[in-house]
Amino acid sequence: MKRNLILSAGILAIVVLIAVQTFIVGQIWRQNETLLLVKYRQMAVNGLDFFEKEYRTNGFDTAFYYIDYYSSLVLQTNEFRNSSGEELDTVKRIVLNEVRRMLDEKQYLSKLLSDYLHKHKVDGNITVLIDINYFDLIDLNTTHTLYVSENYLNSRTDKSRILVSRFRNEDNFHRISFDFYIDITDRRAIIMRDIAISLVMSSFSIVVVILIFILAYRNLLEERRLSDLKTDFINNMTHELKTPLSTISVAGKTLELEQVISNREKIIETARLIGKQSVNLNQLINLILEISIWERTEFEPEIKPVAVGPVLNEIIAGFRTGTAGKAVITDNISLEGLTINADVTYFTTMINNLLSNAIKYSPGDTRVNVEAYADGKEIFISIKDNGIGIGKQHQKHIFDKFYRVSHGDIHKTKGLGLGLYYVNRIVNAHGGRVELESQPGKGSTFTVILPLY
Ligand code: ADP
Repeated sequence: MKRNLILSAGILAIVVLIAVQTFIVGQIWRQNETLLLVKYRQMAVNGLDFFEKEYRTNGFDTAFYYIDYYSSLVLQTNEFRNSSGEELDTVKRIVLNEVRRMLDEKQYLSKLLSDYLHKHKVDGNITVLIDINYFDLIDLNTTHTLYVSENYLNSRTDKSRILVSRFRNEDNFHRISFDFYIDITDRRAIIMRDIAISLVMSSFSIVVVILIFILAYRNLLEERRLSDLKTDFINNMTHELKTPLSTISVAGKTLELEQVISNREKIIETARLIGKQSVNLNQLINLILEISIWERTEFEPEIKPVAVGPVLNEIIAGFRTGTAGKAVITDNISLEGLTINADVTYFTTMINNLLSNAIKYSPGDTRVNVEAYADGKEIFISIKDNGIGIGKQHQKHIFDKFYRVSHGDIHKTKGLGLGLYYVNRIVNAHGGRVELESQPGKGSTFTVILPLY
């Protein structure tokens, strides 16, 4: 519940962060866009001033000359003079298109401006747009003005265009007004380049926050897992300590019973039971002491060359006797003449732990097989059982301190979750590794791999 709350709070915080960052970057983008438009507009206006002063032109002289000449020709045509209604509309449209074409083709402001901007290191691809506001023909003979442009102008509303100037010209045969716009086609790329650092930094901060959150959350889960494991350990421990203690106390009480006092055999039997349970208790307490010593001091085995074959045979033989026929233990040891660097005590504890687990977790017809061989560099000792096996999800934790696979009833098999933890530590201290192959219901094979001497 708490974990879910933390996860939701974290995700919410990240979503808010992303939203805020997106908003900020959006603002920066808009500001940059406005600045860019203002800058280009200013540069273009400066350019126009410069052309006026330097070249005595606004770039449209030729275009105006052509348009005026064309206007005079149009005024003389019969189509224009005599037509009316739809016919006249068509003619007006043709005239206007022609004027537009001449404005586009005969002007050289675009060229001047583009050179000027590039000379002033204002980069970007510039396109030019001319929007006619009105165009009238002036008939000198009749002193009439013919409003050609009526109804045919649709003003464009692209706000990314930059209005550089509004031009107005009146000549002998025409009157015109139009707006001159420039547009920066690669505007987005330019802004992107300008705000790249902000963008990178904000993405980076989001990534950092997400990473920190993931790390913190994983840490939290790990802490939770360890604390659960510790609780399990304490429960198991209490159980393990309680069993011999209650046996001893019951046995003690038994000794007080009249019919037991008079029965010598019963007394001896009870005394033996007490003795056995005390040994168990003692072993447990020693184990706990050992754990705390192992935890506090660096784990330093006394390593010396050991003839591994005979040692292993001895351990297996001892174990066989200890199990007193409870399990069939077969072996196939081919380690003649081979030596490894090891601490025999630890090595024995390690193999014993693996053997006792193999039996402990193989109920019924228990068969354990120990194989040992070498490949010139390393020795392999594999202990195979036909037991309950270990599920994939547990395999990566199996060597963790206190970790036990829970089978519903955690006290079904006794244990503290330390056996494999020690196995792993011992093997590592010997410069080796442990591998596990297991299938639930089929059995497990633990393979200890140690370097040869
Ligand atoms: P313990 O046996 O005290 O619980 P271990 O560290 O020896 O602790 O083992 C950890 C867990 O790994 C055990 O609780 C058991 O679930 C599982 N396990 C160990 N060895 C085997 C095995 N040979 N077969 C199946 N499960 C095993």
